[in-house]
Amino acid sequence: MDKIKQLRETIKNNNQIVFFGGAGVSTESGIPDFRSADGLYRQEYRYPPEQIISHSFFYSHPSEFYEFYRAKMIFPDAKPNKAHLALAKLEQEGKLLGVITQNIDGLHQMAGSKHVMELHGSVYRNYCQKCGKFYEVTAITQTRGVPKCSCGGTIKPDVVLYEESLDEATIYQSVQWLRQAEVLIIGGTSLAVYPAAGLINYYQGNHLILINKSPTPMDDRADLLIEGSIGEVLDQAVNIETIAD
Ligand code: NAD
Repeated sequence: MDKIKQLRETIKNNNQIVFFGGAGVSTESGIPDFRSADGLYRQEYRYPPEQIISHSFFYSHPSEFYEFYRAKMIFPDAKPNKAHLALAKLEQEGKLLGVITQNIDGLHQMAGSKHVMELHGSVYRNYCQKCGKFYEVTAITQTRGVPKCSCGGTIKPDVVLYEESLDEATIYQSVQWLRQAEVLIIGGTSLAVYPAAGLINYYQGNHLILINKSPTPMDDRADLLIEGSIGEVLDQAVNIETIAD
């Protein structure tokens, strides 16, 4: 059977679906991922990107951190693509328990998804390190240098930097969903970033579907492996009524 048709059938026959995704879900919205050929890790910087977006670098080199972060991590004009929209539709139809994402771009919520666990936080939430005041993303995009609160403290994005831990409540809810899931669809992620990638071990079901453009360490475990564009695949599986064998 055609793989998309197989995916469509699995979706049709199950109501406890969970989606786990990463940066590849948003490349079709124009946001570069980290590890593709034109991803951020192939570009030349004075420091490696992992170092720049680390906790220690944020404190030791805040100006350089913010220069990179503004240019490479915030995309306020990006719009949800077919993958985000298909997942929002599945949630509205009562088929999807939730989306667990490593992305920080807010595009799932923009597409209409309500049940989203952001393992690595969001560029849309920012807090003063001194007084805790909340700031919109414009506090970063419409300023220069290191953004400061009215109290004098430094504003920090609510994004999990390298060397920082994931939020416990977010992990807890993600694990709950993964334990309940009949179907787990993983897509647009190299599954290289831990501890996020390790969470999928909590899934115990029989329908592990992996949609990615390049190989991942979990390919052998997939019940259905689809090499392709996540937007096209999910759109065809969720929105197109009939597909020929
Ligand atoms: P990654 O860059 O390591 O891997 C992305 C994967 O997606 C690659 O395997 C690539 O082949 C695949 N891919 C790219 N475009 C695709 C498409 N259209 N269809 C199907 N597959 C596609 O990303 P990751 O695994 O999410 O890990 C990187 C970390 O970077 C994450 O922790 C995330 O927080 C962060 N990040 C987030 C964003 C964002 O918010 N949009 C962007 C860049 C990086």
